[in-house]
Amino acid sequence: MKGISGTSALVTGAASGIGRAAALGLVAAGAKVYGTDIDAAGLAETKKLAGDGVFEFGSQDVTDEARWDTVMSAAEEAHGAVSTIVNNAGVAIAGPIVDFSLADWQKQMAINMDSVFLGTRAGMRRMKDTGGGSIINISSVAGLRGAAGASAYCASKGGVRLFTKAAAVECAQMNYGIRVNSVHPGIIDTPIWQKSITDMLNAVDDPEQVAALTAHSGANSIDVDAIAAQTSPMGRAGTAQEVADLIVFLASDASSYINGQEMVIDGAMTSR
Ligand code: NAD
Repeated sequence: MKGISGTSALVTGAASGIGRAAALGLVAAGAKVYGTDIDAAGLAETKKLAGDGVFEFGSQDVTDEARWDTVMSAAEEAHGAVSTIVNNAGVAIAGPIVDFSLADWQKQMAINMDSVFLGTRAGMRRMKDTGGGSIINISSVAGLRGAAGASAYCASKGGVRLFTKAAAVECAQMNYGIRVNSVHPGIIDTPIWQKSITDMLNAVDDPEQVAALTAHSGANSIDVDAIAAQTSPMGRAGTAQEVADLIVFLASDASSYINGQEMVIDGAMTSR
């Protein structure tokens, strides 16, 4: 893809799902990628999957403010000035509002939204002096519309959406040469669904709906395809690879006039 080969990219949450696919997609396009996560084993697996491609990794909790500077320096030292940042790490904490604790609310905000502020700020501070680049913040269709049982997740992703737009305008007005866009996936088949299964199932009162969610996979795991069949006009879940292809496009010069946009990738889920 235009303008990616040889560049230096940072991807958070690179041990799994969309982050791993984005890291591998950027590597395949010729970028030198530094991936971070709290899951060391997952990062090592991503490294293995990158094969001969250039992928280095380091541990990072994206909510740790001080760590951001260290990680940016490590990526720079490994591969040169960073010109792409994918703020992807995230979790989904579900539950009805009346039972939702402030602690869970704050945890959700810290991991999904504070981290995007910290990553964007860290990128802007350096990239404005090193030739600019592209910052890609992973939001969700849950950042575009509400969902019962997912209020904190929706709030965090809605925050990412508008923070991204504000950052894009600010970067453009300051002539930093940095584009900032958000990506809004629909239902993508990644491990995040199984990780939040207990929360999700607890948030759904209707036994019929629980049965539908777990239809083909047993009571202890969510059937992502069944959810997608119900909610997505295309009748299937998206793949991490499909989201990664969009991320690689946004990192590349092929998207040079796309800025401050919410890029929805959801099989037409939000189109009806
Ligand atoms: P995933 O669970 O497969 O991957 C998320 C990664 O983030 C994991 O490797 C996890 O260890 C890491 N992570 C979690 N907390 C962290 C922290 N504090 N610091 C560093 N890393 C941390 O999930 P995914 O589906 O690949 O999700 C990636 C992003 O896409 C998330 O922001 C998620 O909200 C978003 N998203 C996913 C879907 C979907 O259907 N899968 C839909 C819309 C948006």
